[in-house]
Amino acid sequence: MDFSSKLLENAVNEVSQLPGIGKRTALRLVLHLLRQPKEQTQYLTRALDHLVNDIKLCKSCHNISDVELCDICSSHKRDESIVCVVEDVRDVMAIENTAQFQGLYHVLGGKISPMEGIGPSHLKIESLLEKVKSGVVKELVFALSSTMEGDTTNFYIYKQIKDYDIRISAIARGISVGDELEYADEVTLGRSIVNRIPFENSLRQS
Ligand SMILES: [Zn+2]
Repeated sequence: MDFSSKLLENAVNEVSQLPGIGKRTALRLVLHLLRQPKEQTQYLTRALDHLVNDIKLCKSCHNISDVELCDICSSHKRDESIVCVVEDVRDVMAIENTAQFQGLYHVLGGKISPMEGIGPSHLKIESLLEKVKSGVVKELVFALSSTMEGDTTNFYIYKQIKDYDIRISAIARGISVGDELEYADEVTLGRSIVNRIPFENSLRQS
């Protein structure tokens, strides 16, 4: 692609780094940004600037948050004895939308994936084990997507905690194998949380 401007080329190159965005789409987006009022584009750059500089991870559940302890963890209405284990913020949002879960979350920040070089130490597993060992948690609910990586991660955590006096369950799958949680409809996902099953049973099914 031959650019008439170095500034334009730089902007297109940066935008095309985003997942699923090729050079052509990047050019279309950048031209769109140039055409709209300058203030509008500045709102975007300011929002991104605040995002990268001010965002925090909740010190307890590791969900993306604006404050040290997120709204869910600091709420007195939530049941701290039940912790739902998820991959990232999208899963928390999906489950919160169902309004069927009153416990807390633990955001792992990914799944174990030897193919991508992601091992247990790359994830927030240690702090989850600490929570279990503290005795506050009475039930752990696995809600990772039912992919090979999700299953591997569940099983890894299960092995570490199975000897503790704790109920271990998995969300019931009305969701077909490989579906990500965020794509499941609210009713199905809500039902699968309410009708969660002992984790050992989910092992036998697969
Ligand atoms: Zn939190």
